[in-house]
Order: sequence, then C-alpha cells, then structure tokens
Amino acid sequence: MASTSNSLKALDNFINNEHIQPTAGKYFDTFEPSRGRPHAQIPDSTKADVELAYQAASKAFPGWSKTSRAERAKILYRIADLIESRLDEFAQAESKDQGKPVELARTVDIPRAAHNFRFFAGRILHSVEEAGDLAGIGFNYTQRMPIGVVGLISPWNLPLYLLTWKIAPCIACGNTAVCKPSEFTSLTAYLLCSVLKEAGLPAGVVNMVFGTGMGAGQAIVEHPRIPVISFTGGTVTGAKIIANSAQHFKKLSLELGGKNANIVFADCDFEQALTTSLRSSFANQGEICLCGSRIFVERPIYEKFLERLVQGAKNLKVGDPTKKETNLGALVSKEHWEKVLSYVELGKQEGGKIECGGQKPTDLPDDFKDGYFLEPTIISGLTPSCRVMREEIFGPVVTIYAFDTEDEVIALTNDSEYGLSCSVWTENGRRARRVAQSIEAGYVWVNTWMARDLRMPFGGMKKSGLGREGGDHSLDFYSELKTICLAD
Ligand code: NAD
Repeated sequence: MASTSNSLKALDNFINNEHIQPTAGKYFDTFEPSRGRPHAQIPDSTKADVELAYQAASKAFPGWSKTSRAERAKILYRIADLIESRLDEFAQAESKDQGKPVELARTVDIPRAAHNFRFFAGRILHSVEEAGDLAGIGFNYTQRMPIGVVGLISPWNLPLYLLTWKIAPCIACGNTAVCKPSEFTSLTAYLLCSVLKEAGLPAGVVNMVFGTGMGAGQAIVEHPRIPVISFTGGTVTGAKIIANSAQHFKKLSLELGGKNANIVFADCDFEQALTTSLRSSFANQGEICLCGSRIFVERPIYEKFLERLVQGAKNLKVGDPTKKETNLGALVSKEHWEKVLSYVELGKQEGGKIECGGQKPTDLPDDFKDGYFLEPTIISGLTPSCRVMREEIFGPVVTIYAFDTEDEVIALTNDSEYGLSCSVWTENGRRARRVAQSIEAGYVWVNTWMARDLRMPFGGMKKSGLGREGGDHSLDFYSELKTICLAD
C-alpha cells in the first residue's frame, strides 16, 4: 500500500506481480458503508495504467498459454487453498468494503471464491474436446485455443465471488487478464493479488487495475488489443460496452441486471417457500442479481403469506455487520442507498402500501448512525405497470402481488425487459415443469433459490445478458474453438 497526502491507506495497482502507483498519481476515497466514512484510497487509473497492464499481460501470454493444464490447475488449487487459509481476513475486508454481514462473506462470498478456482482447476484437467470420424472425409477434432489478453470487469455486490468467477476460467484456459473490480469494492481484489503471487502465478498473468468505470473500465473496453471482455454489472453499462467495443468485434460475455419473479402457488410447501422467500428477498441487503424482487402469490394463500412474510421481515436484524446475528448490513454507497429510498417514495406515489420497512432503522448503535442502512421493505397494492414493479431496485425492497391462474402469473413474469432468474414454489410436479418451461429466464429454480451448480450454464435472457458461463460454457467463452480436419 502507498501513502498519499490523505491520512488514509491507498491501494496500488498490481501489474506484472508488482504493486505500483497509478501513473497520474491520483486517488479517490472508498467508503465503509456501515459507518458512512472513507476507509481507504483507490487509484484513479487511466488509459496509461491499462496500457501498462495490457503490456504485462501480453508479455506473459506466450509462456502462460503454453503451460500444461496440469501446471495451471496446480496453481489454481493453490490459490483456492490460500484464500481459504485467510478466510477471516477476506471476510472482514469484504464486509467493511461492501457493507454486508461478515458472516455472509465468511460462509458464502469467500468460500465460493475459493471454490471458483478449485472448480475450474478440475474442469480444465478433466474436460475433453470433441472428435469424430466421417468416412470419406476425414477425422475431425476440436481444440480450445487460449485467446490472449482478456478484460474482466466486475461489480460491487459480490466483489470477490464474481471477480474470481471470471479470473479462474480465464487463466485456466491459458489466457492472461487485465481486471478491474468495482470502484466501490476494491479491497478483496487487492488482497487477492498477494495470494496470486504467493501461489506462484507467473508475473503478468493477472493484472489488477483499480479505478472508475468511465476511466479504467472504458479504457479496457476500448483497448484495440484486448479481444475479449467478460463483464458483470448493470444493463445500461452493458449497452455502453456493446457500443464501445463494436468497432473491434470483441467477444463479449455480459451478465446484467434482473427483476426476478418469485412465484408462490397455493399448493407449495408453505414454510419452505416463506423461509426461502425471506432469503431471496433480503439476502445481501437485496443486492444480489438473483434476488426475487417481484413476489407473486396465488390468491388463496396471499393474505396468510403476506402476513407471515411481513412478520419474518420485521424479525430480521439490520445493523452492525460484524455481529453474527445480523441479517442485513448496509447498502453499498450513499448514492445507491438514496436511489433505493427514492424507489420506496415512488412506490408510495404509485399507490403502494408499505407493509413494513421503508426507512433507516432508528435503533442503530452510535458508531453506525451514518451508515447506509435500510429496513427490509415489502410493498403491496401496486399494479404490474408501475415502475417499482418493473425497474431493478437492487436493494431490500420487494413488491408482492396476488394472482389467480397459472397463465396469468406466467404472463406477469414474462412481461419484463429482464430475464435472469425465477423461483417457482409448488408441490405439483407437472405444473412445475410447465411453468419452468414457459418462463423467460436463464435460470429457473423449483422449490429453492440460488442453488448453484457451477457445471450448469449461467446467464440471462433479454436485457439480463448475453451468453452463458459455467462449466464448459466458460471454457468455450475463454477459448477460441478451432476445428481441425485430418483427411482420410
Ligand atoms: P455497474 O454497471 O455500474 O458497474 C459494474 C462494473 O463496470 C464496475 O467495475 C464499473 O466500474 C464498470 N463500469 C462502469 N461503467 C463502465 C464503462 N462505461 N465501461 C467499462 N466499465 C464500466 O454495475 P454495479 O452497480 O457495480 O452492479 C450492480 C448491477 O450488476 C446490477 O444491475 C446487478 O443486477 C448486476 N449484476 C448482475 C449479475 C449477473 O450475474 N447477471 C451479477 C451481479 C450483479
């Protein structure tokens, strides 16, 4: 870490396995959301820093792309072990930087980051390409070729989890990377740099450039020699990335926003649907792209479900993220908190009833009075055309709506510009299949939520994304697939 004129510690970029200051020497503050005060400084990297990172990655590519799969896997396994050995340090950093409960980071974010490396280490070792003999023509086989320097741009909601979801398959496939984590949450990416070095990853294979989207992010997207971009973030940013990379015909994977439906039929396992709906509504303060923010409940159980959901939401503890019993920490930033609050106001204007929450808790300990907290909020009484029921809020705010028929709820669910995920609650197997098949979403869960199998494709339909990652889909994305024909 460097020190700047400010008394806060400043992070450095990580290029060629060295920590270096941004070329322009500029930094900005990053905030601790639960206390509403700055806790570190982030390099405000520019095009020149991205160029340095690109040069390092480009120099490392010939060597790294020729290492055996076994050698790459060995390093990825080591990275996973090292992350796990520093679990508490990573979890505390993630919570401090993002606002989420330490316990959530300790049990979900960080273990999953380690698992990403372990999963793709195994996958690259055990995957085989296609081969086939066509009599009279020849024997064909495919080869996954490393592509080159890849740009990896990640958001703030699950910082290390989503960044490593990109880094692991990218380098497992023999590419090198220029990464840019969100400017709101750079801390665990910074810690990861020391892990990568300690694990023996050769210099230049992974380079970390910190800074804003308009600065470092756009410079990666517009770099003429970075042919592949994997991006997770908002839909509006995704559209800019498509436009800004178009002239270079870049290969893009875009994992974008959502407005996911949570469909509860009257024949569901009520308690299971209720408990999981509380989680899918409010886990990580509702700041998970997969959260079910539109709850549709079949009319016969609507009143009972609403009453119990409100009761459950009121019982959730909001506050000090370091306490084990805390369910919701702080929202990531003041701007985001204000945006989410503005949707609560909009909900009222649109005729909604705030069933619970809607404001900052009044009983926060002194130390957290300036934090960006919001009570879990449930809004009823809105019609499906309301903005609050259509736009992504990305906070602890859900709407609830009664439906009468299967066809109606399918139409309501699909009447969205997004198509990321959906949960369906029913004990009727035939209905489960029918509904799952009709829903326009990349991932449909029946009687569960966010159960992830990394071997399965992940990605969104419509404005929720382009492409799929996961399992061999990730290997295909991070490789150039070549067909070779040996003539008979
Ligand atoms: P964001 O789009 O504002 O930022 C994401 C990243 O892109 C950040 O690193 C940012 O600095 C960078 N960026 C911003 N503008 C850029 C530009 N013009 N060029 C290049 N990079 C740029 O998103 P966010 O607010 O950090 O994250 C929240 C969004 O992410 C939500 O919409 C959420 O649904 C979505 N998300 C989607 C998934 C998924 O898997 N589909 C997962 C997590 C989050």
